[in-house]
Amino acid sequence: MTELFKVETGHCATISASSRRCHYPENGLEPSSGGAALFLSYRYRLYPQRPQEAVLHSYLGELTYLWNHALAQRRDSWVTKHHRIGYYEQQANLKAWRAFDACGLGRVPYHIARDCLQRLDFAYRAALGGVRAAQSSVGFPRFRRETRSFGFVPPPDPLRLARAGTWRIHIPRVGPVPVRLHRLPPEGATARAVTVSRETDGWYSTIQYEVPDPPPPSGDPIAPVGIDVGLTHLATLSTGETVDAPKFFRASERDLVRAHRRLMRKESGSRRYAQQRLRVARLHAKVRRQRRWFAHQLSHEWTRRFDLLSFEDFDVRLVVQGNRLAKNILDAGWGQIRQLCKYKATLRSRRYTEVPAAGTTQSCAMCGRLANPPLPLHERMFRCPAGHLADRDVNAAKNILGRGWIEVRRSAAEVRRVDGTPPPTRKGRRAYQRKRDRAIWSGETRRACSARSEFVSHNRERLL
Ligand SMILES: [Zn+2]
Repeated sequence: MTELFKVETGHCATISASSRRCHYPENGLEPSSGGAALFLSYRYRLYPQRPQEAVLHSYLGELTYLWNHALAQRRDSWVTKHHRIGYYEQQANLKAWRAFDACGLGRVPYHIARDCLQRLDFAYRAALGGVRAAQSSVGFPRFRRETRSFGFVPPPDPLRLARAGTWRIHIPRVGPVPVRLHRLPPEGATARAVTVSRETDGWYSTIQYEVPDPPPPSGDPIAPVGIDVGLTHLATLSTGETVDAPKFFRASERDLVRAHRRLMRKESGSRRYAQQRLRVARLHAKVRRQRRWFAHQLSHEWTRRFDLLSFEDFDVRLVVQGNRLAKNILDAGWGQIRQLCKYKATLRSRRYTEVPAAGTTQSCAMCGRLANPPLPLHERMFRCPAGHLADRDVNAAKNILGRGWIEVRRSAAEVRRVDGTPPPTRKGRRAYQRKRDRAIWSGETRRACSARSEFVSHNRERLL
């Protein structure tokens, strides 16, 4: 575990596979590589001077007004005329709005205001898309009491070296703002978007860099791993290792519970209430930072050691019914760890898969037989009807790895067919693989079964 702590990760990279602002051609942000580009976000702390901070605050205020105004316009137009106002119609109005409110919105640089309209449009599209896909997860955008961030399109290299090795980032009409460059931006990358945000402990800027695509993984994985997520251990690897939640997680959560209780005792709306609320917010921020830090450590370590990472494609809500703290850990922690592993694997040309979770704890990783009777939650050992004995979580992790292998082979088969090069023809090996796949997939859900039949049909085509 000591190696885990070698890498300094402060407020560093997170990833998005594509950029939100790429949707709008006037930003000039179509991925330059033609296909899907890789974006890395670097978050740096800002130290604006007093007058600069005042300007930043004024931007946020004006953008709240703009957001609410644009939202009301969209809503009213739909309610009264059944006409759907789009982004471009609002963008065309922006000039008039800015001229009308010359001392307010007019002072916010044009492309920062435009970014606000794009964000609104993006929120609308997400909500409409969610409605169409019959998902209730994304709601319609709401009216705002405050805005916490704004974005703009930067020059390719927005950071400037000032005197004495200190750095500045240029924010339009605010000027060069001191920035703590705790790590250098990626080499050979172009800045595509900047977001400036106000948080409980200060100002931050997030710079989105477009990086050249790393080479795709080649050859068969040499060091594969399956990772099972659980409550007794934070993670169990198919190698038999376990990772526990660090103690500071629990400590911070205890503090958080206490701070919340104190908040509830204060009179709502009083000065002490406001003070306590700020303390709660800071604690939340601290917990968030700790989780992110730990997630970066873990994902760094795993993507360094392993070249195939196989995770369960599970639904957090089903895993942790009834346990609030466990839910917090999994909810905020696991989605993030998977997300970080995914992009770090891509960057390091490693493989990352998410496989169906159904039945991973109930089937034997050695022979594929189902536990009979089903394994209860409190039982720590998996006893196979055929006599194999394994730790419950390690067994599950091995099953996850087995399914990951299937995914890898399936995608490899596709690549080979596209190339036109013949697949390997060693008969015995293929028969072995089929037998193993059958064992792994036996007694699964419909989804798993369809994946399996897809795999089988692929192989059948290869045989012809
Ligand atoms: Zn067995």
